[in-house]
Amino acid sequence: MIFPDYHLHSSFSSDSSADMADNIKNAKENGITSICITDHYDIDFPVRPDEPEMDFQLDYETYIKYMSELKKKLYPDFDLRIGVEMGLMYDSKEKCSDFVKAHPEFDFIIASIHVVDNLDPYYPEYFSDKSDKEGYMKYFETILDVVKKYNDYNVFGHLDYILRCGKTKADFFDIKDYYDVFHEILKTIIQNGKGIELNTAGLYKGLGFCHPHKDILKIYKELGGEIITVGSDSHDAKHIGYGFDLAKDILLDTGFKYYCTFKGQKEEFHSIS
Ligand SMILES: [Zn+2]
Ligand SMILES: [Zn+2]
Repeated sequence: MIFPDYHLHSSFSSDSSADMADNIKNAKENGITSICITDHYDIDFPVRPDEPEMDFQLDYETYIKYMSELKKKLYPDFDLRIGVEMGLMYDSKEKCSDFVKAHPEFDFIIASIHVVDNLDPYYPEYFSDKSDKEGYMKYFETILDVVKKYNDYNVFGHLDYILRCGKTKADFFDIKDYYDVFHEILKTIIQNGKGIELNTAGLYKGLGFCHPHKDILKIYKELGGEIITVGSDSHDAKHIGYGFDLAKDILLDTGFKYYCTFKGQKEEFHSIS
């Protein structure tokens, strides 16, 4: 069993030049017969003057039209679902809600935090006035603020993405330091009927583990979390399905028996076997 890949990007994303034909080809070569494309849409992204092309806007009308036509062409041999990775900031959540509500044609919505304090922590200046631990906590508290107020998504993306960005990455990560905030985040996500993803990009982005860390995944399971998708966060086709064998072991070891796919933003459960 290989999971459908529920987090990947194409050239519709500012930071990807992956061609959809290559995405489909690589998926098939990896034995994957279904993917959900989730290109970026970060409303109000703070564009840097030195990188004007990195605006993370989405030409969604063209995107939906292009993907819908491709989906028809591929069916029934290949099951393409159409999603979006919404980059949320606390102050843009109403705009994000309006967008999601106006577009029921999306099968799947990932909510992700890419910006805190108007800075993408991918850039080192986010940490210029904070220790790694302070920067990480601020990111997690931002997720908590958002999940308490925002409901227009299906799964929350890469919950501990920030661990990739600090100077010490996850070298000193100890769940005890963040247990309370994750307990609250995950409880809120579950109570609101939403889910999380297991994102394998951490494996090839210098962390050596998937997002979220298994100690966070354990809290989700213990709190009764069931909705979980698996995605590679591929930006260049070659990472599609990356580490999915390991993802399967992690899910089974943590006690998950099912993973999810989405159609029309409704979850579908499938046995992990
Ligand atoms: Zn992301
Ligand atoms: Zn992504």
